[in-house]
Amino acid sequence: LLVRGRDVCRRNGLLILSVLSVIVGCLLGFFLRTRRLSPQEISYFQFPGELLMRMLKMLILPLVVSSLMSGLASLDAKTSSRLGILTVAYYLWTTFLAVVVGIVMVSIIHPGGAAQKETTEQSGKPVMSSADALLDLIRNMFPANLVEATFKQYRTKTTPVIKSPKVTPEEAPPRRILIYGVQEENGSRVQNFALDLTPPPEIVYRSEPGTSDGMNVLGIVIFSATMGIMLGRMGDSGAPLVSFCQCLNESVMKIVAVAVWYFPFGIVFLIAGKILEMDDPKAVGKKLGFYAITVVCGLVVHGLFILPLLYFFITKKNPIVFIRGVLQALLIALATSSSSATLPITFKCLLENNHIDRRIARFVLPVGATINMDGTALYEAVAAIFIAQVNNYELDFGQIITISITATAASIGAAGIPQAGLVTMVIVLTSVGLPTDDINLIIAVDWALDRFRTMINVLGDALAAGIMAHICRKDFARDTGTEKLPPCET
Ligand code: ASP
Repeated sequence: LLVRGRDVCRRNGLLILSVLSVIVGCLLGFFLRTRRLSPQEISYFQFPGELLMRMLKMLILPLVVSSLMSGLASLDAKTSSRLGILTVAYYLWTTFLAVVVGIVMVSIIHPGGAAQKETTEQSGKPVMSSADALLDLIRNMFPANLVEATFKQYRTKTTPVIKSPKVTPEEAPPRRILIYGVQEENGSRVQNFALDLTPPPEIVYRSEPGTSDGMNVLGIVIFSATMGIMLGRMGDSGAPLVSFCQCLNESVMKIVAVAVWYFPFGIVFLIAGKILEMDDPKAVGKKLGFYAITVVCGLVVHGLFILPLLYFFITKKNPIVFIRGVLQALLIALATSSSSATLPITFKCLLENNHIDRRIARFVLPVGATINMDGTALYEAVAAIFIAQVNNYELDFGQIITISITATAASIGAAGIPQAGLVTMVIVLTSVGLPTDDINLIIAVDWALDRFRTMINVLGDALAAGIMAHICRKDFARDTGTEKLPPCET
């Protein structure tokens, strides 16, 4: 038994360490909360976790570019278009399913009740319209400057402009009339009343082009995929670049293999640091608590039942074994709240533990980390309906359908970074006329829900790769010779 135990530990050492690090991170975080550390001390404490995030982010760009270019270049036109169409269709379908699960959950649990809003602050900040948000999504697909796309993305900025009504000096009314006098009214004295005649200024919001920090992953995915397809068509003349990308991809994966040993240590500080920063959990209102429970229940149903069942029915393989293979990626998603940052680990798990064809993983994973966010879509639908419930706003069937479509679009538009779904939620709210300021209602619990929905986003991508590997197995068996140059050894 001891020998078997040692064998299990050796084979799953990293996974066991990662699970332990999540537990230790939680315990340490709650213990240190009692010590009331200063913000400065908390930021020093968070440093090892910050390093983990920086390492993962460093790997995203070379990984996405090299995997898409080498992956698509090594497939023939028929195989790549079939894989592309099937993958995107599957992604849309499962995202829509997630939205339906969210709508059913929020309708059953009804977390918004029909009483007062439990809002703490209303920012009154202007937010962009849904048309602007959708146009931004399309603009980001075609970055004007590839170098800028590696660290910035396009985002329309909405700024308030104060417009004073135009009047000529002659027409200008007196700004204020002061009437001096004392008047008796029902026994009380009213004096010196003033009449303000200045017309109030009008505030209009203007949309102007702008950028926000963070990589434009969608633009880079579109560019790299197109380059990969073109390289594949170029045949031998494209081979040097394909070979370069294959070696780049392999070397990034080698860096990942070394860096993973740091990750359990980083996870402890990332999780404990977040717990130190969070507001007092007791301050979260009852409705907000029910809202959070609704989102988590929806994520559990979608991630632990619907997606695994789909995997089982399509591949006839055991989904539990598959999920166990990607458990480490799920823990990193929980710790980082970023599906893009988790991408290198998802790759590693799929190739090493689940033995997915690397040509499939190279296409399905980067595209999935950008457009397939089942967890985000589910949460967007639940949040929109929760806000409607809090406002006593009856949604009709047409509006529910609108929410399902816009929640799907909003999840596609969300970047794979922490709390990106909160930003794109405006698309869903404005589509049915709900107040966008009410996004403030859910901010208090969003950091926690973000972690769980990111796990489901990553799980959705990984299971998609497993399903595509099964569906396209014949094409890939036929296409074995098309990895044109010998891949570097891993
Ligand atoms: N944090 C999520 C992700 O990276 C996106 C979101 O829902 O905010 O997948």
